[in-house]
Amino acid sequence: MYKNIYLRIYESFTLPPTPTRPTPYSLMNEVIIIGGGIIGLAIAIELKQQGIGVTVLRQNRLSNASNAAAGMLAPHAENLPSAALFSLCRRSLYLYPEWIAKLESLTGSKTLYCPSGILAPVFQVPRETPLGGIWLDQQELKETQPGLSEEVCGAWWYPEDGQVDNRLLLETLNQAAKKLGIEIKDDIHVSALQQREGKVEQLITSAGNLRSTVYILATGAYASQLLPLAVRPVKGQMLALKMPFSTNYPLPLQRVIFGDGIYLVPRQDGRLIIGATVEEVGWTHYNTPCGIQTLLGKAEQLYPALKDYPIQEMWWGFRPGTPDEGPLLGTYSAENLLLAVGHYRNGILLAPITAKLITDLLISKKSDPLLQEFSAARFTTTPKPPLLYFASPMTPISLSLPDTKVKNDPLIIAGRKFNSRLMTGTGKYSDLQTMQQCIAASECDIVTVAVRRVQTNAPGHSGLAESIDWSKIWMLPNTAGCKTAEEAVRVARLGREMAKMLGQEDNNFVKLEVIPDAKYLLPDPIGTLEAAEQLVKEGFAVLPYINADPLLAKRLEEVGCVTVMPLGSPIGSGQGIKNAANIAIIIEESQIPVVVDAGIGSPSEAALAMEMGAAAVLINSAIALAKDPPLMAKAMELATRAGRNAYLAGRIPIKTYALASSPLTGLVS
Ligand SMILES: Cc1cc2nc3c(=O)[nH]c(=O)nc-3n(C[C@H](O)[C@H](O)[C@H](O)COP(=O)(O)OP(=O)(O)OC[C@H]3O[C@@H](n4cnc5c(N)ncnc54)[C@H](O)[C@@H]3O)c2cc1C
Repeated sequence: MYKNIYLRIYESFTLPPTPTRPTPYSLMNEVIIIGGGIIGLAIAIELKQQGIGVTVLRQNRLSNASNAAAGMLAPHAENLPSAALFSLCRRSLYLYPEWIAKLESLTGSKTLYCPSGILAPVFQVPRETPLGGIWLDQQELKETQPGLSEEVCGAWWYPEDGQVDNRLLLETLNQAAKKLGIEIKDDIHVSALQQREGKVEQLITSAGNLRSTVYILATGAYASQLLPLAVRPVKGQMLALKMPFSTNYPLPLQRVIFGDGIYLVPRQDGRLIIGATVEEVGWTHYNTPCGIQTLLGKAEQLYPALKDYPIQEMWWGFRPGTPDEGPLLGTYSAENLLLAVGHYRNGILLAPITAKLITDLLISKKSDPLLQEFSAARFTTTPKPPLLYFASPMTPISLSLPDTKVKNDPLIIAGRKFNSRLMTGTGKYSDLQTMQQCIAASECDIVTVAVRRVQTNAPGHSGLAESIDWSKIWMLPNTAGCKTAEEAVRVARLGREMAKMLGQEDNNFVKLEVIPDAKYLLPDPIGTLEAAEQLVKEGFAVLPYINADPLLAKRLEEVGCVTVMPLGSPIGSGQGIKNAANIAIIIEESQIPVVVDAGIGSPSEAALAMEMGAAAVLINSAIALAKDPPLMAKAMELATRAGRNAYLAGRIPIKTYALASSPLTGLVS
C-alpha cells in the first residue's frame, strides 16, 4: 500500500550508496522522524503499522515536554481559543480509547488512561454555560468531590474529558515502537536540514549526515532551532505530592480538578500532580521558589487538605507554544518535509489525531480539511509587493547618468550581479512605512535582515519580513545577536530557510556576525573564522562582519568567504571611518569585494569609503535615525554612487605645492 505515488516521487531523488565510491552520508529508512516525544513516536507507530520503514532520531530520551506534562485530556475544560483547535482536540479525544487499547494490548503495559471527566470548580457563579459543561451546585459538588474549599460555589463538570499518565504512555509508546521494529536512534542531535531544489537532501547530525526519502519534524518546542517556525518555548513548572493511599480506601481525589491557573491531577497510584505555571522566560532550566509557591498557594486554596501531603518531586518543561496555540501540521518549504510541531498545551491529547492526519497525508496524500487550518503558512502572510514602492513623501529625484561606464559597473558577489553598491538594513526605523520609503529612496538591491529578531518578532520586527518585496530586493540574512560561532551557524541556517520561505529559493547568502561584546559590539575574530569555515562547508555564501584586520580578512578570503565587511567604526556610532589605513590595506590585498560596514554617519563618509576603492557600503543607523530618513537614504545613494564614480575616474595625486588651474603660458605681461 505504501508504494504509492507520493513516495515514488522521491525514488529518483534518493541516491543509493555505490560500493566503489564511499558516500559521505548514511541511508536510513524511507521516513526519518526528527524527535521522539509523544508526537514523533505516535506518528512512527502509525506509519510502521501501515508498512512504512521509519527511523526516529532524538537527542534525548527523557528531557522533553511529553515527559513533563500533566496528561490531561481536556478539550472542554481547556476553553480553547478557536473552533478549529477545539474540533481537532475533540477528534483526538474520541480516538483515545481505541488508540490506548491497541498500544496496551501490543505491549502489555498500562498507561492509567482514565476518561473519568474533569471538574472545574469556580468561586463565582458564571453567566454562560461552556460547551460540554454540566453545572453542579455547591451541594452536588460536595457529593461528587468532598474536601474542596468552602468558598467554591459550584463547578462545571466535563464528563467527556479525562487523563492519562503521560510518562507511562511515553514508555508504552517506546515499547510499542521497539516491538514493531522501528529504529530509534538516541542521543543524536540534528543540527540542520540541508535543502536543495525544494527538497530536503540530508540531515546534518552529531552522527554524520543522514538521508531518507521523507522527513518529519517532530521536535516540539525545539522546532524553531532547525527551521524558522513560529514555535517558542513556554515554560511550565510542576510538582507532585503523595496523597494518603491505602488499598482499603478510595483516593481523596478521584478526578482532575481544573481551577483558574491551577490544576490537580490525581493518579491512580496515589501521586497528585499539580501544575502548571505558564512562563515566557525562554530556555530557563530550573524550578523557582516563586513558581512552586504560586502553585502550592493556588492548589491549597482549592483543596485545603493537600497542605500536609508530602512533596515527591518538582520539575519543569517547555510547551511548544505558537501564536494561536494551534500546532503546525503538514507540508512546509520542501516537498519531502512534513511538520508536526507546536502542540502547545495539548500535545498529549493531540497525539492520536496528529499521527492519523500525518500518516494519511503521507500515504494517500489525503489532506484532511482540518489540516489547512494548521498549516505553517498561516503565520507567513503573503508578501505585498506594492508596499515597498509606496510613493515617497519627497519629490523623486531624476537621475540620468550619461556615463555608461558607471551604468555597466555592477557589484558582483558570489557570481550574482547587483546594480547598487549601497546595502541597507531594516533595524531602528520608527515604523515599517519609513523603512519601505528608505529602501525605495536608497535604490539598494540588498537589504540585510536580523534573522533572530524577525523570528522572535522583536520590537519593530513584527511583519517586517513580509513588508519587503523580495522579488526585487535580495535578502541578506544576518546573524546579529549571536555571541558564539555555534549560535551564528545555527542562525545562519535559519536565515537560509527564512529566505526560502520568502521566495528566494537559491539565496545562500549570510552576513556573519559573531559579537560577544555588548559595549562596543566588536566582532570576535576567532569565532567569526570558525563559523565562516563551517558555513562555507555547508554551501553558504558568507559575508563576514569583521574588525578592520588585514590578516583576518585574508584568512577569511582563503577559507572561501565571498566578501569581507570591515567596520569603519563601532556599529551605530556614526564616528565615520576611523581605521582608513587598515581598510586601505584590506582593499589592496583582497580579491573579493570589500564592503565597508558600520560606523558611517554621513554621506561624505560613504563617499570616502567608495573613493578608497571599497566595493560597497552597508548603512543602516545613519539612515534610520536621521531626522528625515528617506531624504538621508537618497543622500547616501548619491554619495555612494559619487564615491564609486570618483574611484573609477581616478582622483588627482596630492601635491605639496599649488598648481594653477589655468595654464601659465600666454599671459599678458
Ligand atoms: C508543564 C507542562 C504541562 C503540560 N500538560 C499537558 C496536558 O495536561 N495535556 C496535554 O495534552 N498536553 C500537555 N502539555 C503539552 C505537551 O506536553 C506537549 O504539547 C507535547 O508533549 C509535545 O510533544 P512533542 O513530541 O511535540 O515534543 P517533545 O515531547 O518535547 O519531544 C521533542 C523531541 O524532539 C527531540 N529533539 C528536539 N530537538 C532535536 C534535535 N535538534 N535533534 C534531535 N532530536 C531533537 C527531543 O529529544 C524529543 O525527543 C504540557 C506541557 C508542559 C510543559
